[in-house]
Amino acid sequence: MANPKIKSSAQNAKKSNATAGRKPASKSLYSKADLEEIFRRFSIQRPEPKGELEHVNPFTLVVAVALSAQATDAGVNKATRALFAIADTPQKMLDLGEERIRDYIKTIGLYRNKAKNVVALSEKLITDFGGEVPRTREELMTLPGVGRKTANVVLSMAFGQATMAVDTHIFRIANRLLLAPGKTPDEVEQRLMKVVPDQYLYHAHHWLILHGRYCCKARKPECERCVIADLCRSPEKTWDIPAPLVELPAQIIGAEAAG
Ligand code: SF4
Repeated sequence: MANPKIKSSAQNAKKSNATAGRKPASKSLYSKADLEEIFRRFSIQRPEPKGELEHVNPFTLVVAVALSAQATDAGVNKATRALFAIADTPQKMLDLGEERIRDYIKTIGLYRNKAKNVVALSEKLITDFGGEVPRTREELMTLPGVGRKTANVVLSMAFGQATMAVDTHIFRIANRLLLAPGKTPDEVEQRLMKVVPDQYLYHAHHWLILHGRYCCKARKPECERCVIADLCRSPEKTWDIPAPLVELPAQIIGAEAAG
């Protein structure tokens, strides 16, 4: 999962607001009814949204998310398939060693540093957590290479907690749609946690990522294919008739749309 390009996304949001002739919004422009309707439609499109990073247990999820900074999920999956087949626990990862880990992940950006982090986080899991992945954000964030976003993904996908891991897609959508505008991922996270209706909070993070990845794309949003085109308040919107609301075909994990 790629990290937010904070500067450029914030600049884009600023530009969009300027285009619309209004100051950067400090909170969501959407009514409670609009917010309910937006997430109701996402829930019909994708009743069971899934993260697209392949993993076989909480440990491999931590590693996959840590590797995904500034890389695509598809690119990480290609590299980790073989790695996780032989090293799916912290001890096996240590036994493999930094050099061989590096060989497995050398197609991923920043792989040298990431290989170091995989070794260091495996060591820390063994010495401080008995080889188990901890279940709190604070503990997760003590692991090398694990920031708030990674911790949120792990809490959600491995332990079923409702969190909002702000990646590049969520950061862009929150600002572009003026849904939860913010200059930093933390600001966007806090605002989204407030505006997303409670009953939709658990899946909201995946719905927003998938909407950003496959429809509200970075370079050019595909508004004619968008199920919330009538509700969207983005100055960048090019169409305001919502696309038919139907359940989408099952996700193919590992596929990645251009965008
Ligand atoms: S209408 Fe366009 S800008 Fe708005 S959410 Fe849909 S794709 Fe994005």
